[in-house]
Amino acid sequence: MSGIYVHIPFCKSKCRYCDFASFPDKIGFAESYMACVYREMAKRKSELKNYKFDTLYIGGGTPSVVDENYIAMLVAAAKKNFALSPSAEITIEINPGTVSAGKVAAYKKSGINRFSVGLQTAVDSQLEDIGRIHNLKDFEACARLLKGENFSVDIMIGLKGQSIADIEYSVSVAAGSGASHISMYALTPEDGTPIYTDYLNGEMTDGDEVAEMYGAGVKKLKELGFERYEVSNFCKKGKESKHNLNYWKRGEYIGFGVSASSCINNVRFTNTFDLDEYFKCILSDNFAVIDSEKIDEKGQKEEYIMLALRTVRGINLSEYRRLFGVGFEEEYAATLEKLASFFAKKDGCIFIKPEHLYVQNSIIINFFN
Ligand code: SF4
Repeated sequence: MSGIYVHIPFCKSKCRYCDFASFPDKIGFAESYMACVYREMAKRKSELKNYKFDTLYIGGGTPSVVDENYIAMLVAAAKKNFALSPSAEITIEINPGTVSAGKVAAYKKSGINRFSVGLQTAVDSQLEDIGRIHNLKDFEACARLLKGENFSVDIMIGLKGQSIADIEYSVSVAAGSGASHISMYALTPEDGTPIYTDYLNGEMTDGDEVAEMYGAGVKKLKELGFERYEVSNFCKKGKESKHNLNYWKRGEYIGFGVSASSCINNVRFTNTFDLDEYFKCILSDNFAVIDSEKIDEKGQKEEYIMLALRTVRGINLSEYRRLFGVGFEEEYAATLEKLASFFAKKDGCIFIKPEHLYVQNSIIINFFN
């Protein structure tokens, strides 16, 4: 499986926790930026001519803040330059504060068949505190526009002043909106963001409370018919995100735009995070790659283990042998013996028991020297 990612680095304003490449003051450059993305795609066409792509993911930033015609042209450019499967999952991230009936209709007409909506919390005072531009009413209006569509909702845990009841409420609002998929992830206070100062001042929810919130959220999601398939991702039956699955299976992907990363043929490369630099590179007919790394077999194994153990399915033992020519259980016999109480085995897969999935990082680290 392989995927295409496109980064749209514009937002109406900067959320207080955000360290993504997004430039609210540069939205006036959206048209020129999109022209550069189309150009970058055309430039990669010949090297990717043998690839079949199963997913296209338009993320950001806030893709829904730019003119819907640019998005339609973007989908058309992806289809023109690459072998995008007719049944491809084509997702766009949308912010409830920037969507309209006209936009949703244009997205659907262009071939977009999945939407990812950033709710984050259903509590208005918390939305305000993290600097989101929308409130709960905007989300409800957005959900009405998406009625009958395949859409996902993002929820955050660990916000300032958030309680378990708030998590249960947010999860219920997301589930009741008609979403088929919910991502529930913990806020990480990134250095350099305003929320990092709150964290240094001891104002953020502490780790143990976040773990309790996660547990409560998982329980509520289960009651509401959402099955967990990865530590932070839950869905109705058969509604897993193909884009996410490709990533967790170490599938190949190509990224376009500022800060987008790619992994093709075990070479990982990342575009510049600097918008001006991106323009300069693409307009002078170069790529905008700032970092490139060949992943050796040890690195491939480590990534495979790390990503697969985030999923409920875990490591498929025959797939591991096929990929690396050695049995996972033989190779890591001592580690598996030491950590036996955390693991279970079923249908040819080894996985972290559900009750330990939240602390998967501290378990997985044992597999690496
Ligand atoms: S909408 Fe997303 S990308 Fe934009 S500022 Fe907020 S968190 Fe960052």
